[in-house]
Amino acid sequence: MKASEITILVIEDDDFQRGMLVKMLRYLGVTAISEAENGKQALDFLHTIDTKTIDIIICDLKMPEMDGMEFIRHLGQENAITSIIILSTLDRVLLASVAKMTVAYGINLVGVVEKPIVVAQLESLISLYERVEVKPEPAVMPAQVYSIEEIMHGVRAKQFEPFFQPKVDLKTDRIIGAEALARWIHPEHGVIAPYHFINLIEQNNQIDELTFLMLEKVVAASRLLHDKGYDISISVNLSLNSLTDITLANRIIEVAREAGVNPCHIILEVTESAAMTEVALALENLARLRMHGFGLAIDDYGTGYSSLQQLTRIAFSELKIDQSFVKDVAINPALRIIVESSIDMANKLQVSCVAEGVETKEDWDILKSMSCNMAQGYFIAKPMNLTSFIEFYEGHSAL
Ligand code: C2E
Ligand code: CA
Ligand code: CA
Repeated sequence: MKASEITILVIEDDDFQRGMLVKMLRYLGVTAISEAENGKQALDFLHTIDTKTIDIIICDLKMPEMDGMEFIRHLGQENAITSIIILSTLDRVLLASVAKMTVAYGINLVGVVEKPIVVAQLESLISLYERVEVKPEPAVMPAQVYSIEEIMHGVRAKQFEPFFQPKVDLKTDRIIGAEALARWIHPEHGVIAPYHFINLIEQNNQIDELTFLMLEKVVAASRLLHDKGYDISISVNLSLNSLTDITLANRIIEVAREAGVNPCHIILEVTESAAMTEVALALENLARLRMHGFGLAIDDYGTGYSSLQQLTRIAFSELKIDQSFVKDVAINPALRIIVESSIDMANKLQVSCVAEGVETKEDWDILKSMSCNMAQGYFIAKPMNLTSFIEFYEGHSAL
């Protein structure tokens, strides 16, 4: 789409600034420009036309009557299909927060700019929009919903497999572990992610069956990989529901023993949940597992119930910093402080720390500079089946 074909609505209460903006847009070749003095006026105007005919709305935040945030909320609630550029003098942290809010309302955010805007900035934002083009609505795939019976049938038929996501040592760049993530290899629907089954299995108190199927396959994989000479540990997710059964630790110990796998090559990941009522039982299980040499990782550190309290009562060996803090750590100063403090804390507690959800080179580099021990995320690799993991490992160590 060329600038001359784009339709823009400018919402700005200051006459002079609005005038400047319109001039800049004309200079850039935009001809179809509408104007409004505040959110209310803009909304009234949008109600008289088909909103789809407006490609981009450039919106100030601080305005009388209806401010930019309220306007964005209305847009979101009315499911308007449009893109927005936010314009403001507010400070960066606040702008970033408004940007998050906009996306949460389902509005396509082209960019956020601090005032006064200059022509070059406006030009690059518009070309950004041009490159993205008006995305056709993604075809809404009817989400497949499985009943607990179907899922458990799959578990019993051993259709669930661990997929392995590499964990890389940030100092040496070597693969030193992998997290095993459950995938349902559905005979008709292919590979199905945990989102479609974990909660339901947990709610029905049947997670143990999946946990032990995973453990069984993971210890077999561990055996195979160690026989190949790989020095890696594999992490398995434990559900908190399972921890209240006092026989759990011994059953896990038995699975490892039978496969001839040294527990120190297996790490169990736990996240504390709201429903953790029987703390004593869980702590006993975890202490027993640790005593037998299993690694214990605190998963999703920093979120919900995975918090400081856990650090004081679980003899854990690894801290996994949740991906919500890791994603964009390179560009968000607040995240940087949180991640840095978590790493510092892990170091002082003498446990290793893993940054989860590393997606970009920038995040990777900054974590390296923060002396974080390990990284896991799409920047390195997505979870994959055992065969692909072996290929990946071979290729990686040949580098
Ligand atoms: P989790 O334990 O926090 O696992 C990490 C999740 O983040 C995985 O999702 C992984 O694929 C995803 N991930 C890894 N790197 C990136 C990245 O760079 N960007 C983004 N956006 N995501 C990344 P997955 O495999 O869908 O698993 C979701 C959750 O399901 C897991 O979260 C875990 O809580 C649960 N889960 C998976 N397998 C099992 C299992 O065998 N037992 C139990 N109890 N829970 C499991
Ligand atoms: Ca995990
Ligand atoms: Ca996690």
